[in-house]
Amino acid sequence: MEKLKADCLFCKMIKKEVHCSIVKEDDKILAFKDINPQAPVHIIIVPKVHIDKVSDLTKDTAGVMNDMTLAAAEIAKELKIERDGFRLVVNCEEYGGQTIYHIHTHMLGGRRMTWPPG
Ligand code: 5GP
Ligand code: ZN
Repeated sequence: MEKLKADCLFCKMIKKEVHCSIVKEDDKILAFKDINPQAPVHIIIVPKVHIDKVSDLTKDTAGVMNDMTLAAAEIAKELKIERDGFRLVVNCEEYGGQTIYHIHTHMLGGRRMTWPPG
């Protein structure tokens, strides 16, 4: 099974066919700055396997959530925002506000977040 998808923006970033500002990379994930930041820290964390959305996860693939969350914890320490705190968001489909159909976690920090979200 091909792990990446030819016409997917985030897969192209993983393949270095499209530029992004990389914050962290390992064999499991790529993390880069969001092009339209909603907070002083706004990082997108993507697994290096193409999965459209969170509702497509199976027992075999759900480990990508671990990989993204662990990366967020490491980035928080690197950016020294772990004490103040931050927010992780996974948008799914139309009502969730998903626009890019390669599963990803938003990491938002550097300011106080509000609740409920919009
Ligand atoms: P979603 O709306 O799917 O949850 O999040 C997609 C995110 O990807 C958005 O926050 C959007 O700003 C970001 N994004 C879309 N296109 C690009 C791009 O070309 N480069 C970067 N760095 N981020 C992008
Ligand atoms: Zn993809």
